[in-house]
Amino acid sequence: MSQTSETVLEINLSALEHNYKYLRSQIAPTTKMLGVVKAFAYGSDAVAIAKRLEKLGINYFAVAYTQEGVSLRKGGIEKPILVLHPQSTNFEEVIEHNLFPNIYSKYTLGAFIKTAEKLQLKKYPIHLKINTGLNRLGFDPEEANWITDRIAQTESVKIEGIFSHLAASEDKAERDFTKYQIENYKSALDQILPKLDYKPIRHLCNTSGILNYPEAHYDMVRTGIGLYGFGNSAEEDQKLQPVATLKTIISQIHHIKKGESVGYNRGFKAEKDTKTATLPLGHADGINRIYGKQKTKVLINGQLASIIGNVCMDMLMIDISEIDCEEGDEVILFGKEKSAEEFAHNAGTISYELITSISQRVKRKIIN
Ligand SMILES: *Cc1c(COP(=O)(O)O)cnc(C)c1O
Repeated sequence: MSQTSETVLEINLSALEHNYKYLRSQIAPTTKMLGVVKAFAYGSDAVAIAKRLEKLGINYFAVAYTQEGVSLRKGGIEKPILVLHPQSTNFEEVIEHNLFPNIYSKYTLGAFIKTAEKLQLKKYPIHLKINTGLNRLGFDPEEANWITDRIAQTESVKIEGIFSHLAASEDKAERDFTKYQIENYKSALDQILPKLDYKPIRHLCNTSGILNYPEAHYDMVRTGIGLYGFGNSAEEDQKLQPVATLKTIISQIHHIKKGESVGYNRGFKAEKDTKTATLPLGHADGINRIYGKQKTKVLINGQLASIIGNVCMDMLMIDISEIDCEEGDEVILFGKEKSAEEFAHNAGTISYELITSISQRVKRKIIN
């Protein structure tokens, strides 16, 4: 008898604690740590994760969108929350829930100041994002003077933080580029900081930045994937523990004859008599079609079985010809026993995409 009776994503908070402590050990005691809990804490459970991190002493949180920050506040999270990509139409909501916006352009700075002045706020904390080479969001370092002049004209905001984001901190072959980004960041700081009579929090590194660029930790680091158990290298993965385990069961077993097919578009054609199992999860649960056609494997009773044919919306089929198993047996897609990084890699993607894709239809089970 297995303990699993349906598809579940187990969220292991002891693994989270282990990862938190490991990442903490990689930074100076005075360096602050920001936990990135966007996208349901990388597909897990943002409130459960943030609550445990708050208890462990994390200093700060970040989410991508305003609504994610509001959910954390409603869940009782009290630490500062940076919203990495707020829209200007959300600024009142940002303020109402005491969230700190990332201000990344002349337009967003103007719009936020307008809202803050309308609400008669004084020194509302904002973070400024500098574009140092990722070319996604951020002020150019050349806009530094414009920023400080504009902020000097208002009482309504103060710069709580100045940050940037690295494009390739996990890639040793791109060390020169990362160093160039660090130089650009420094240049922006050198222009902005002397104009202020207070010290904003400087933050640059994501998980791989923490591990590979200890000289660039500044006042705070931002870690996402590391907290969830992945270090973007085999060596670092060893030191971390995956927080999420995706499990399901065998719904039905079929014995199909050579020449028969399995699933939509007859995506698998049996070259010999084959035993298959049908599992109750599919692309609507986040196991996308890229994982089908024998690209990835799942684990049953310690043995690997390939996903065959096309993944359906609510189901997928696997080849269990060589495996001793029964209907109702537990199946592990990824977790501690089987790496999500490898599962993703075999289909040409990365752990970030796999784990954040597990849809809200899959029940979350918190394990302490
Ligand atoms: C998502 C994100 C992070 C977290 O990156 P990891 O590689 O998961 O540690 C940090 N900073 C910004 C700006 C992000 O968007």
